[in-house]
Amino acid sequence: MSIAENVAQIRKRMNAAAIAAGRDPKEVSLLAATKMNDADRVKEAVAAGVDACGENRVQELVQKQPLGAYEGVPIHFIGRLQTNKVNKVVGKVDLIESVDRLELLEAVNKTALRLGVRQDILFEVNIGGEEQKGGFTPEETLALAAKMGDYPGVKLCGLMTIPPISEKKGDNCKYFEKMRNLFIDIREKKYDNVSMVCLSMGMTDDFEDAISEGSTMIRVGTAIFGARNYAKT
Ligand SMILES: *Cc1c(COP(=O)(O)O)cnc(C)c1O
Repeated sequence: MSIAENVAQIRKRMNAAAIAAGRDPKEVSLLAATKMNDADRVKEAVAAGVDACGENRVQELVQKQPLGAYEGVPIHFIGRLQTNKVNKVVGKVDLIESVDRLELLEAVNKTALRLGVRQDILFEVNIGGEEQKGGFTPEETLALAAKMGDYPGVKLCGLMTIPPISEKKGDNCKYFEKMRNLFIDIREKKYDNVSMVCLSMGMTDDFEDAISEGSTMIRVGTAIFGARNYAKT
C-alpha cells in the first residue's frame, strides 16, 4: 500500500470513529509521526493530505526542515527534548507537544523571550503514572496550568499523552477518558495564557479509542509509513 492509500484508509477509520462517538469528524486532525522517514516520504504524506507533521528527534528536524519536507502543513515537535537543544526547536516549530518537565518549560520560555517569539506548547501528561516515562502527573498539570501567566514566552494550547503499551483494543480508554476530564477541567478554569484547543492522543494501535474519548489530534506513524526499521540506524 502506498502512503496515499494508507492516509485515505486512516481518514475513513477516523471518520467512522468520530461519527460512532457522535462527534464531527472535522474536530479531529491527523498528524504524521515522521521519525525515521526521509524528506521525500514526508512530502508524500503531506501531499496525501495529513494535517500536520511531528518529529521526535532534533537531528531529524534540522535535517528535513531545510529540504522543505513539511511545507504546507504545521510541524510539531513530539519527542523528548533536552534543554541544551531547545534553541534548535523554539521558534522553528508551530507547536512543541512534549513539554514534560518544569526545567524544560522554563528553558522554552526563556529562549522564546530572548528570540522575541511566543511558542505554542502542550503539556505531556504521564497519565499511566509510569516510572520510566516523562511527563507531568495530572495534579502537576493542573497546578502548572494555573501559573501560565508567569510564562509569557509560551502559550499553553492543550495536552498530549502517550498511554502505557496496551495488550488489546479498549485497554487505553480509561487513560484517554482521564485525559479528557483533565483537559476539560483546565479549559473551564479559563486561566491566563491558556487556550485549551488541542488534546493530542491516539497512535496507530489505539487512535479509534482515543477519538471516541475526545482526542482532537491523533499522531500516526506506522499506519502511514509502515513499520520502522530500527536495525538500520
Ligand atoms: C512514533 C510516535 C507516534 C506514532 O506511533 P505509531 O505507533 O507508529 O503510530 C506518536 N507519538 C509519538 C510521540 C511518537 O514518538
